[in-house]
Amino acid sequence: MQNPSASKTTIGILGAGQLGMMLAQAGRKLEMGFRFLDPATEIAARGLGEHVCAAYEDIDALEEFSRGLAAITYEFENVPLESVRWLAQRVPLHPQPDALKEAQDRLFEKTFFRGVGIPVPEFSAFFFRDEYDDAVGKIGLPAVLKTRRFGYDGKGQRVIRTVAEANTAFKELNGMPLFLERFVPFDRELSIIAVRSLEGECRFYPLVENHHREGILRLSIAPAPGLTDQLQSEAEQHARCVMEKLNYVGVLAIEFFVRGGMLYANEMAPRVHNSGHWTIEGAETSQFENHLRAVTGMELGSTVAKGHSAMVNIIGDFQDWSEARNTSNVFVHDYGKKPRAGRKLGHVTLCGETAHAVEAMLDRLGIPQ
Ligand code: AMP
Repeated sequence: MQNPSASKTTIGILGAGQLGMMLAQAGRKLEMGFRFLDPATEIAARGLGEHVCAAYEDIDALEEFSRGLAAITYEFENVPLESVRWLAQRVPLHPQPDALKEAQDRLFEKTFFRGVGIPVPEFSAFFFRDEYDDAVGKIGLPAVLKTRRFGYDGKGQRVIRTVAEANTAFKELNGMPLFLERFVPFDRELSIIAVRSLEGECRFYPLVENHHREGILRLSIAPAPGLTDQLQSEAEQHARCVMEKLNYVGVLAIEFFVRGGMLYANEMAPRVHNSGHWTIEGAETSQFENHLRAVTGMELGSTVAKGHSAMVNIIGDFQDWSEARNTSNVFVHDYGKKPRAGRKLGHVTLCGETAHAVEAMLDRLGIPQ
């Protein structure tokens, strides 16, 4: 008799954090096996596949990791582009390396958005400290000084209102390539999770409203309250345009600022995204399953929301969620990570038939909105 595990399609994932973990959990249903490459010894995706524990630049490890894989994808965008290009020459890899290149550098990303006609906050690139005054002249204050690379969860950016704040920000972000962006006094923040198949079919989840604190996502409400067809279709057009331009395959997230009814793109993530976690219980097909379907050439699943959902991140320490665990339509996801300030340790999704029902659950569990 054939060994069923030997005939399983094995997918390689660069990174074995919680996104890799949830991809692999979704892959069970599709009877996929997984192999992770991650230099960390303690990984959220433990037990969900083989773990090649090595640096992303280690060619021998890349060789070992890629052997016999049906497809490769990644769960975070700071994986070295050279390694991704090396792998893409050997195994089908999605989203393709050029998408990663655009998303790795916030300046490339903003320039790319503007180039395809998607509104962005005004920004100005500069290379030397003494060019900063010119940049302020163009942008005005307040502004946000951002590092071009390795910025996430509010890291690598400082709001600047005064000369003193500019001096401190330059000291703190010292040595990193930077750019300056207009501070947007936005009405709210929304994101769209989109997916494109190998055949070029695009599907979209409803826009989600996101609430950040200290630059970290705390709460997502899906669908976004007061969502209009016009806003949804505008966001879909932007996401479609990005995906078609990049010949993109897989899940893509774009985060927007909304001001006066207009969408301004803030950033994109060429991967499954925190603001799409609600789809596990709240949509007909989760973002994780749809990403796997796309990168392996399968048909996409429905992106329709089953009702209303709210997703709350558990950050820093894993408080007592026992009441939530015992409440129906409340789903607690524990990533099994060691507590640390600012670290995402898990998330909770609340589902209901109406927005009001979900709000009431948030209130009952004492979760601020
Ligand atoms: P980012 O790391 O660029 O995603 O930024 C994290 C968060 O910082 C965003 O979700 C916003 O809440 C805030 N932020 C970033 N850029 C700006 C901006 N230009 N104006 C106002 N708030 C911003």
